[in-house]
Amino acid sequence: MRICDILRTKKTFSFEVFPPKPEVSDLDDIYRTIDELQQFHPDFISVTFKASGDNSRHTIDLATYIKRNTSAEPLVHLTCGSLDKEDVDRVAAVLEQEHLENVLALRGDKPVDSPESYLKCFRHASELMAYLRSTHKFCMGGACYPEGHIESESLYDDLHHLKVKQDMGASFFITQLFYDNNYYYRLKRVARTMGITIPIIPGIMPLTSATMFNKIMHMAGASIPFELRVLFERFRNDKEAMFEIGIAFSVSQILELLANDADGIHIYTMNNPKVAADIYQRIHHVIDKELR
Ligand code: FAD
Repeated sequence: MRICDILRTKKTFSFEVFPPKPEVSDLDDIYRTIDELQQFHPDFISVTFKASGDNSRHTIDLATYIKRNTSAEPLVHLTCGSLDKEDVDRVAAVLEQEHLENVLALRGDKPVDSPESYLKCFRHASELMAYLRSTHKFCMGGACYPEGHIESESLYDDLHHLKVKQDMGASFFITQLFYDNNYYYRLKRVARTMGITIPIIPGIMPLTSATMFNKIMHMAGASIPFELRVLFERFRNDKEAMFEIGIAFSVSQILELLANDADGIHIYTMNNPKVAADIYQRIHHVIDKELR
């Protein structure tokens, strides 16, 4: 089923997983993760795609597994920076053959050491969308950034480009992770004034370990609320406490988003089904009422 058709009737509850490294040939662990995630009745499960494009087979294998073995729709990420039109056609042909109808069309992060040599044929996700729209019939989503994309001069520039993605055929957006809901509310408010009308689904990444916390702190563009930062710094050596704090924070973030009519909830699971289970078990009555 096309995710845009689901979104016409209801808000969605969904997860993201990522494939193992290209050299890993046994996908059983990640298949088990998908089986566990399926218990929480997601509308769709998205599968990431390496910016270098060199792991597309695993992405497609996972998406095919989701399609055949779960009631969730797979959403295949497709990053275009390192691909030319023939590469895109090749991936698109396999997706069609496997009846994978939903694509999250992305550019991919430029490598730090050679940012300009990364881009081949498509300079922006909107160009990939325009190409896919003219050659295929996928339901397409795109990425958006509550605190603005790192390369953008302002949120308004970014939203101007977001509007182009809608014009090129995107029928929903999923946000980058954020920890202060005000950024999501502002993004949505300003986007609506600029004519962006399609659902903007908030992406929630539970911060459940010191490693993840350090990574986010060093990643430009995601503000950490003061209280969360204080707690993480205080409990950084206590694994259980870190997990508890991360889950509790995400639960309250989700509840506030739902109270304010967010367009759905997408959880970056980091391939850890316990994260999804802990969140779902705590608020499944609310999720079932708001997102079914
Ligand atoms: P774009 O939409 O092309 O935007 C990139 C930058 O260019 C922005 O600053 C934008 O404002 C600007 N821009 C856009 N159009 C124009 C234009 N016409 N003229 C001038 N400037 C323009 N990365 C992966 O490698 N694999 C994944 O699977 C993956 N999944 C993701 C899922 C989500 C939900 C999100 C939010 C991000 C994901 N990313 C993934 C990261 C993403 O690839 C990077 O953030 C990348 O830097 C930008 O991708 P984009 O599709 O938003 O690019």
